[in-house]
Amino acid sequence: MPPVPVLGPDPTGTRYRLLCPVCGHHGPDDGALLACRSAHGPALLRATYDLRQLSVREDEVGVNRFRDWLPLKRTVHHVGLPGVFRSVGLARALGLEELWIVFSGFWPERGATLRSTTFKELEAPVVCGRMGDDPRCLVVASAGNTARAFAEVCSAEGLPLMLVVPGGAEEAIWSTRPFSDAVRMIVVEDADYHDAIVVADRVARLPGFVAEGGSRNVARRDGLGTPVLAATTTIGELPRHYFQAVGSGAGGIAAWEASLRLRADGRFGDHTMRLHLAQNAPFTPMVDAWSRRERALGSCDDHTALERIRAIDASVLSNRCPPYGLVGGVFDALSDTDGRMYGVPNAQVRRCIELIARTEGIDIGPAAAVAVGALEQAVARREIAPGDKVLLHLTEGGRQRVFADHPIHELRPTFKVHRSEASPERLSAWLAS
Ligand SMILES: *Cc1c(COP(=O)(O)O)cnc(C)c1O
Repeated sequence: MPPVPVLGPDPTGTRYRLLCPVCGHHGPDDGALLACRSAHGPALLRATYDLRQLSVREDEVGVNRFRDWLPLKRTVHHVGLPGVFRSVGLARALGLEELWIVFSGFWPERGATLRSTTFKELEAPVVCGRMGDDPRCLVVASAGNTARAFAEVCSAEGLPLMLVVPGGAEEAIWSTRPFSDAVRMIVVEDADYHDAIVVADRVARLPGFVAEGGSRNVARRDGLGTPVLAATTTIGELPRHYFQAVGSGAGGIAAWEASLRLRADGRFGDHTMRLHLAQNAPFTPMVDAWSRRERALGSCDDHTALERIRAIDASVLSNRCPPYGLVGGVFDALSDTDGRMYGVPNAQVRRCIELIARTEGIDIGPAAAVAVGALEQAVARREIAPGDKVLLHLTEGGRQRVFADHPIHELRPTFKVHRSEASPERLSAWLAS
């Protein structure tokens, strides 16, 4: 079994505060705050760290290495990290001189040790570490990668977790290690991701539970920013271009926030890191809004959106209500970096999975292949000078290796409930029993 962490005040906690980009309020963090308390339009809070320069702590495990710039109230025990390397095969195929890859999956030879095989495993430990000694049970709604990552990390940390997933998604919740008993799961039947979110909100309001909060959680975003920290400190310079597939855009916003801190650090160059973000066509709400330079997205409840979601290979990129237009969101990140967006169709996604297998020798998932497709399109459109430092974020991969090398454990649901029967009273009674 994983080691049981020692909870309680940790003198190694990072010194930071939370800044509201709208009213400028700058204050301490209680470990769970998701939005500014003042009455104004929606905005993402941002963490500001006392240390302007980053020291990578090579002797520490996992994301603790980047703790100077993570909102950690205590050390986390989870050991997973992404791997960074300079590409030879793909770089040659695309005619790029300085292509770097950050691999957020499982590929130990390259230093990538995320056993749940996606970059969601970088947000989960930071969210847990931000909670400090808060004993409440974290509630996370997810249809797949996020739930698996939190289950992996909370098991390792010995922390209580309540996952809420739509029926069918429970198959995505596996681990190479047995789950701890503190990790539980409600399966909402006859439901989609949105229904799971509604049930999760009800559970999170019960005493003893706390909502994780998604993109609004500064810990989630700064955890997702660690691949950019790892890459930049390895390269020695902030990359000119950053490629990533987005669904909610949290990872894209996180990369931008990390690049601003690296620029202010002063040792990695004084240039902008341009965001190149991609979605899987035909589901491209952010690509469409950005092509019109509009802050407003199309409607979240558009019926054609559901059809388009069903058509895409990279189903993890199917968020209908991403944090795009709010202050500090994707629109601002793209505006500040003169960003680009790309729609990558399934045919190109499938071809890019093959391309990476052939040129780099690893299996990647469809979301990562969407980023590769964007890079191909950018090269074809001459968006990149051949000598530019380019960072490609492969956000999932190595699943074949994980399955070949390890036994796989599945998480058994604590209970199943039909979405029409998941009333607050019922949930409360069930959870008390
Ligand atoms: C969630 C996810 C993404 C998209 O992340 P954003 O939060 O939208 O930036 C990309 N790839 C994989 C594998 C994911 O699980």
